[in-house]
Amino acid sequence: MIEKLYERLEAHYDEMVAIRRYLHQHPELSFQEYNTATYIANYYKALGIPVRERVGGNGVVAKIVGTRPGKTVALRADFDALPIQDEKDVPYKSTVPGVMHACGHDGHTATLLVLAKVLYDMKDELSGTIVLIHQHAEEYAPGGAIAMIEDGCLDGVDAIFGTHLWATEPTGTIQYRTGPIMAAADRFEITIQGAGGHGAQPHKTKDAIVVAAQLVLALQQIVSRRVNPLQPAVVSIGSFLADNAFNVIADTAKLVGTVRTFDETVRDEIAQEIGKITNGICLAADCSYEYTYTKGYPPVVNHVEETNFIVDIAKQLPEVTVVEETEPHMGGEDFAYYLQNVKGSFFFTGAKAADITNPYPHHHPKFDFDEKAMLIAAKLLGTAALHYLKK
Ligand code: MN
Repeated sequence: MIEKLYERLEAHYDEMVAIRRYLHQHPELSFQEYNTATYIANYYKALGIPVRERVGGNGVVAKIVGTRPGKTVALRADFDALPIQDEKDVPYKSTVPGVMHACGHDGHTATLLVLAKVLYDMKDELSGTIVLIHQHAEEYAPGGAIAMIEDGCLDGVDAIFGTHLWATEPTGTIQYRTGPIMAAADRFEITIQGAGGHGAQPHKTKDAIVVAAQLVLALQQIVSRRVNPLQPAVVSIGSFLADNAFNVIADTAKLVGTVRTFDETVRDEIAQEIGKITNGICLAADCSYEYTYTKGYPPVVNHVEETNFIVDIAKQLPEVTVVEETEPHMGGEDFAYYLQNVKGSFFFTGAKAADITNPYPHHHPKFDFDEKAMLIAAKLLGTAALHYLKK
């Protein structure tokens, strides 16, 4: 049965690449993936696989029901893109200005679609049900997962598995981790209200840029001087907005940043520290402010038994040369929510071709990945599904 799965996946590899490249050329931003969702649903409809659309938003859920009863296993792929201009020089580069599949979600989708097609061909041999979860909006909190779960995508599911293609690890590498593998990812915004004025008369103003600049530096001390060094934490400011003419002192300035943690107490402490520091600096500068801290995805916490299950399968795949425990990633993933509801595991599938020495990281304008890794991901997820149904 596994040999048949591998043979058929290999026979359909070209289709996988074609789907990935089509999606790469037609990326859509989080919560706006209408055409991608329709494309996915149409693929299932053409095969005669029952599919539910608009699940929790743009989510699509298909089901392959075996001829005999058994367990229900879910596989998940996300399908949103990012607000990044594609700067690659390849025939399949994005056709949408300022929007790009810069994280490999196009590959996740192509992998799951072709895997579903092959598994559907084998449905007469299956006991149980395989649920294919195509999730919208992974890149932007609150994300698509939580809404899809509320809309029933996990109903009856015994376990869930998912992978992220990882373009900075060699193809043939599988990285796993039991317990926390990805961080909680939160967002904060601070708007400073000063008093604008003429650039030549600073003494009659309250310069919001100077205050915000002090804040950017002061916030660096949270991780270095407030958080236990044995607890991982990141505070990063990604946006500093204060646009004025050269001879104008800023009335307002806005900072937007992210906090990454694995521990709930550290997470809450950092949110409080940002508030205290902002309050102190604004008080000294006689400015007012607004501070909001929005909790994003919780940490992705893998279950032990299901992770060991994936590791055992990965070690048996001929194309897989390295199966290793990864350090936790500070990136966030709303796969976290599935794992809060059912057992399962999320792992990384290396996707760096042997001839690439300095791969562009995820979310880079020149990001790309080794498409052969999709075949490895499909084999691993497919084997996991087939084995799990027999458990
Ligand atoms: Mn991603």
